[in-house]
Amino acid sequence: MEEKVVVDGLTFVPYLTREEIQEQVKRVASEIRRDLLGKSPLFLCVLNGAFIFAADLIREAAINDCTVSFVRYKSYEGMCSSGSVKQLIGLNEDIDGRDVVIIEDIVDTGLTATQMIADLKKRNPNSVRFATLLYKPESSKTGFKPDYVAFEIPPKFIIGYGLDLDGKVRNLKDIYVVAD
Ligand code: IMP
Repeated sequence: MEEKVVVDGLTFVPYLTREEIQEQVKRVASEIRRDLLGKSPLFLCVLNGAFIFAADLIREAAINDCTVSFVRYKSYEGMCSSGSVKQLIGLNEDIDGRDVVIIEDIVDTGLTATQMIADLKKRNPNSVRFATLLYKPESSKTGFKPDYVAFEIPPKFIIGYGLDLDGKVRNLKDIYVVAD
């Protein structure tokens, strides 16, 4: 793990190691497996930030009868929520009767999550569950609570393991928090 990471002049310090992340990914994967084994879930990865978490989580869940798809939303500019959620890539396939598991990197205000779930529910799925790597309960503006959470964290800006600052540093294997 690097001692610090500097992006666009901002300094980030270590927050969660790759080992801690993998331990919680395994726990969440086993919860999903417990709830959905025997069904044919559709894992819906929210681009861009969740692609690394989704890749690890889906493999750990080890439900062979699953399918995987992708949607893309954008609500953040720099380090702040813009307050509006834009859908950039929608879902083309039929989800009628499917058990959908949305996989997100982080729930902050909860605006993206609530909009996404409302959009999906109009399409008659059997169930919609929500898994997130990180959850900032104190930032919530919606009261939304994810079904599966790897880590609850305070309302600070995080990068790494898929999470970016203006598109950068998604590649980091560990998670870093902005220095005070
Ligand atoms: P929400 O709609 O406010 O819950 O925001 C969800 C989206 O905001 C996430 O999918 C991320 O793209 C972005 N986001 C929120 N907090 C952070 C953070 O700490 N680091 C990087 N991106 C974040």
